[in-house]
Amino acid sequence: MKVLVLNCGSSSLKFQLIETDEAMAREGRDRTLAKGLVEDAGGTAVLHYEAEGKKPVRDAIGAFQHRKAVEKALAVLTDPENGVIPHKDEIGAVGHRVVHGGEQFQSSVLIDDQVIEGIEAMIALAPLHNPANLQGYYAAKAELPDVPQVAVFDTAFHHTMPREAYLYGLPYSLYQRFGIRRFGFHGTSHRFVAGRLAALLKREGDSGLRLITCHLGNGASACAVLGGKSIDTSMGFTPLEGLVMGTRCGDLDPAALLFIMGREELGAAEASALMNKHSGLLGLSGLSNDMRTLLEAEEKGNERARLAIDVFCYRLRKYIGAYAAALGGVDAIAFAGGIGENSPAVRERTLRGLEGLGLKLDPKRNGEAKGKEEQISPEGPGARVFVVPTNEELMIARDTVSLVSPVRD
Ligand code: ADP
Repeated sequence: MKVLVLNCGSSSLKFQLIETDEAMAREGRDRTLAKGLVEDAGGTAVLHYEAEGKKPVRDAIGAFQHRKAVEKALAVLTDPENGVIPHKDEIGAVGHRVVHGGEQFQSSVLIDDQVIEGIEAMIALAPLHNPANLQGYYAAKAELPDVPQVAVFDTAFHHTMPREAYLYGLPYSLYQRFGIRRFGFHGTSHRFVAGRLAALLKREGDSGLRLITCHLGNGASACAVLGGKSIDTSMGFTPLEGLVMGTRCGDLDPAALLFIMGREELGAAEASALMNKHSGLLGLSGLSNDMRTLLEAEEKGNERARLAIDVFCYRLRKYIGAYAAALGGVDAIAFAGGIGENSPAVRERTLRGLEGLGLKLDPKRNGEAKGKEEQISPEGPGARVFVVPTNEELMIARDTVSLVSPVRD
């Protein structure tokens, strides 16, 4: 089946056309036929598209609207010259990344009116993302009215966290009244990477398997996975908690924020911008949110770039230690996301000094591993460490197929 995977932001649409079915997924034979992005670039949306064996396409389409973006995606996918399908009827299902599923959605679901209500109910918790995800649904519904659509939630994988992991040390009534708790995000990525680790270790279905997955992109989070289930993760009520990220501060003493708000006379919106947009690697370095830029600047002697990278790696190291404790040991760790997949230096600095926990890197393997699934720890006893390129779109396509395919005996 050909599945259109949509990831809608407030002014962007990422799409992929993926061919998969249950047998292809089992044997890892699924294929990404084409991928693209429609993104607002200063008032005008631009389409970037590529497919194997075709010319890449770049095209301006006027002001960004989800409906127009989906229309454009379908037009390029069916284009006689650069497209990969003759007609949009070839699309058997649409899978959406939905950011917030709250406590209601514990796995992926076929979208119907009740599910739409549920996603709407979570808008208060994800005011930028969930409305955009719904826009994507309506846009696809208009273009492909008879095609089933599936929602795959960023939060769903973490629904297995125990209460002691998801509750804050706040009055319990705040959880009861407003649902203040830790949800965790990046769940689709952590689930994919944990699944790959279990397969690489040939321990699929082992309820005692102890994994730590590190998704390190612009947003970053770590996850403790026991027997295939998330038991803790570093993001919380929002994606702000946990690791130091490109522009987000991660863990912070809330009293420090109150102090800054008083001193700088900041309102809630400004305080939120400070923590979400001006902090993290960017705020610490004063230079960039981009890890590659910082590594290059550090090479040239930029001390603040070094500091930002040090804080990033140290925070992650602390989480790895904490999750080793939560899991009662570690069998394997995976590094994923743009930074995790491509930066031997960050991986090395993160795991430095963790030999006592059985975590060691093979310098040659680590130095050479870039963007490919590979073991980077030495052979022998101790935990194994891997680079595992994540593939959230593939996970969404697989979930979509399994929900829309008729059940077979
Ligand atoms: P997003 O979260 O937006 O999907 P990515 O997963 O693509 O982001 O990760 C982006 C980050 O990966 C940036 O900080 C970028 O600098 C970093 N990155 C990409 N390639 C490298 C590299 N070769 N070395 C170090 N960092 C890299």
